Amino acid sequence: MIAGEQASRQTGASGQGVDASELDAWLAAELQVARFRDYCPNGLQVEGRPVVRHIIAAVTASEAAIRHAIAAGADSLLVHHGWFWKNEDPRVRGIRRARLSLVLGHELNLFAYHLPLDAHPSWGNNAQLAEVLGLEPDRIGGVPRTAGHDNLIWLGRAPGVATVGELAARVAGQLARTPTLIGDPAQPLGTVAWCTGAAQGMLQDAIDAGAQAYITGEISEPTVHLARETGTAFLAAGHHATERYGVQALGRAIAERFGVRVDFVDIDNPV
Ligand SMILES: [Zn+2]
Repeated sequence: MIAGEQASRQTGASGQGVDASELDAWLAAELQVARFRDYCPNGLQVEGRPVVRHIIAAVTASEAAIRHAIAAGADSLLVHHGWFWKNEDPRVRGIRRARLSLVLGHELNLFAYHLPLDAHPSWGNNAQLAEVLGLEPDRIGGVPRTAGHDNLIWLGRAPGVATVGELAARVAGQLARTPTLIGDPAQPLGTVAWCTGAAQGMLQDAIDAGAQAYITGEISEPTVHLARETGTAFLAAGHHATERYGVQALGRAIAERFGVRVDFVDIDNPV
């Protein structure tokens, strides 16, 4: 453990393990990876040891997360934010070289799931954030009501929360950080929309879908004007803070299915 980290044990089992390729195939099917137009490859991004027995789950495949996995003696890293993003400089230089050499040198598997993990109906970041914040998704025939790019925005209500200010207080209490609120705290709360991470660009989609308040991770300068001029409450609750939960739920599912050990490490990120 290094400063700024909090680790939590999710399962103590360390049995026979599972082949990395079998885990990759299972995750591809469960998360419906082929369904998404994503900005990065989803799945086993870097091959390490052939058998997976101990996974460290983290939000991002940062150097700190890699070093934590190595120190823990894990064979695999499972993240929401992996590598090889579109429009990135593909050369193996700088931090890319440093991260890759650590992962390859210690034969770690790197499993990464971006949009498929945002969207999964029960383990996904949006589903898990709803549970953490006590949001009740609208459902049509049992399926969550969604909007926006790849149906990543969820819509619903916040039972027991009467105003925008109370919603902001709920977010602050549950995520242990004060959100940036654009809007009138006294405004009554109707339909709430949410999408974890950097989904401020989908505010208009949330408005079009009927939301009076929209929760996401990040905020940009134009977001403020759109929120004000449409009278829509906007809450930026933190990219990292809103995306801590999906990878933990996925880790629990893997542990349960395959009997491997999965530990989550929360490496602090103020954004
Ligand atoms: Zn993200």
